[in-house]
Amino acid sequence: MKKGYVIAIDGPAASGKSTTAKLLAARLEYVYIDSGAMYRACALAALQNKIGLQERKKIKSMLDQIDIQIKYHPKGNKIILNGEDVSKRIRKADITKLSSEIAVIDIVRKKMVELQRKIGKDGAVIMDGRDIGTVVFPNADFKFFMIADIKTRAKRRWLEAKEKGEDLSLESIEKELRWRDENDANRKISPLKRAKDAIDIDTSDMSISEQVDFLYKIINQGK
Ligand code: C5P
Repeated sequence: MKKGYVIAIDGPAASGKSTTAKLLAARLEYVYIDSGAMYRACALAALQNKIGLQERKKIKSMLDQIDIQIKYHPKGNKIILNGEDVSKRIRKADITKLSSEIAVIDIVRKKMVELQRKIGKDGAVIMDGRDIGTVVFPNADFKFFMIADIKTRAKRRWLEAKEKGEDLSLESIEKELRWRDENDANRKISPLKRAKDAIDIDTSDMSISEQVDFLYKIINQGK
């Protein structure tokens, strides 16, 4: 197989993007980039610096100085914000909400897209997010759009939380997912949207290995 493709995977939260992308990247020996983690890191930086989302000048100077590194780790990439490993912190509920809120801001998106394009410029990369196939890499070699029904997505997040020892109700998770779907799909800039040339996958009734195989087969056939 020709190495060096750019592969974009978009879709709503808990549709299976990250899990599939991570395993597929390992199989293809590609770099995996979770673009959502970058918005989460921005949200955390704003929180740490006590910057409100209306404070545009402060956000601008925060972005001018921000250093987000994604370091490969066999158990899952590490996200390093200004030298600090924030991989666990950015998964907490407050940052989940704040990341979706900060992601509507034009200068934030501009900066993240710039970083994402830099990371992906040499190819052999799988990036997942909301606007990868539409905005970040409109010429990606392969574009996938993953969906799953809301009950399945809530159950997935609930199980993940349980494994981490967090006691959350299914109802509260479903509510949070619905809020984020709405916020991400209805923002003015780069909303969560299927690229016209994306391949659709509904993962509601698929196992993780079926999801990975599905993508792998298509990529293996080449363009
Ligand atoms: O993918 P994840 O759920 O970690 O993303 C957190 C938030 O970051 C999303 O709800 C979305 O608002 C934002 N995001 C985005 N564009 C991306 C990836 C994530 O706006 N490419």
